[in-house]
Amino acid sequence: MEKWHRQTQAVHGGTRRSQYGEMSEAIFLTQGFVYESAEAAEARFVQAGEDEYIYARYGNPTVAMFEERIARLEGAEDAFATASGMAAVSGALMSGLQAGDRVAAARALFGSCLYVLEEVLGRFGVEVTLVDGGDLAAWEQAIREGTKLVFFESVSNPTLELIDIAAVSEMAHKVGAQVMVDNVFATPVFSRALEQGADVVIYSATKHIDGHGRCLGGVVLGARDFIRGTLEPYMKHTGGALSPFNAWVLLKGLETLDLRVRAQAASAQALAEMLEGHAALSQVIYPGLAAHPDHALAMRQMGAGGTVLTLEVKGGQEGAFRFLNALKVIKISNNLGDAKSIITHPATTTHQRLPEEQKAQLGITPGLVRLSVGLEHVEDLGRDILGALQAV
Ligand SMILES: *Cc1c(COP(=O)(O)O)cnc(C)c1O
Repeated sequence: MEKWHRQTQAVHGGTRRSQYGEMSEAIFLTQGFVYESAEAAEARFVQAGEDEYIYARYGNPTVAMFEERIARLEGAEDAFATASGMAAVSGALMSGLQAGDRVAAARALFGSCLYVLEEVLGRFGVEVTLVDGGDLAAWEQAIREGTKLVFFESVSNPTLELIDIAAVSEMAHKVGAQVMVDNVFATPVFSRALEQGADVVIYSATKHIDGHGRCLGGVVLGARDFIRGTLEPYMKHTGGALSPFNAWVLLKGLETLDLRVRAQAASAQALAEMLEGHAALSQVIYPGLAAHPDHALAMRQMGAGGTVLTLEVKGGQEGAFRFLNALKVIKISNNLGDAKSIITHPATTTHQRLPEEQKAQLGITPGLVRLSVGLEHVEDLGRDILGALQAV
């Protein structure tokens, strides 16, 4: 089984069959499990064996199938599934840190990740230093003797800057710090984060892994010691467990993840090439374009540009709104990785609450829009975008 390609793992990895021999994975929609005897119950509480479950907050067969499948896909020793991406991020951060610890993190972060790092960890006496993630000299300064953990998103949202996983991991490991990568934009299809030096990889499964905008979920992947020894006790007692139903949805998502993400990335690449130099746009940001400042790193780290592309429409917010409102196929929303193409105006939605100077620092200008490319025919997407740009 270990020799299977990722695509085969994504279809068969981790499957557990009941006595009925069902083809499609079963949804074990149960919180509890029946024991043969009082002695058996006692034994399981002392030490639960492989595929022995106690309570769905601790583990469940459908959830275990999802964990094992994605661990095989990612090439990780183990995985723990969570109720959402943020349950994964907060659990991964909180489970191993304590007052007095030092964390270095990239500044360009998903808003809720920033909240956990700055507000929550700060309140518990963890010192967090934020750096410009693309600047290796800044990392070198921030990662010092005594730094316990390094956290960043491998591709930043929404400006699509890449952070060099191998280079930052090398610095971190020199001082014994653990490296955690929020890898949502890279997706498990293009991720080689663990090979490149990351110790822990985190996904919001709400995005590409579900891929159809149906449910929330998250997962933390890494060495068994960390997943079962540090993270699991924290998660199982604090309650961020993934529901068995959502685990089933995500299992089905994994089966088609590779096909979907590759098709979405190919369309994103084609659209980026088509839009480069368009008179109504002041910027086309896509790591798959040779002109992107991190193009070489993107190719080395992911081998592709990803499924998201960011455009700066001329005419500021007014221009951006006119563009969004003229789109017919592409929907205005804030998810990403969906089969449906989704466009977002970060300055007024996902990043609305940031002070103006912070928006400027992160490159979130009034004309900036983030496009998550879906599975529609690329010609329909191209026509939709070109038509709407005429309205600008
Ligand atoms: C969406 C997202 C999260 C949070 O995931 P949820 O499933 O919404 O909790 C964290 N990090 C990144 C980069 C994301 O895009």
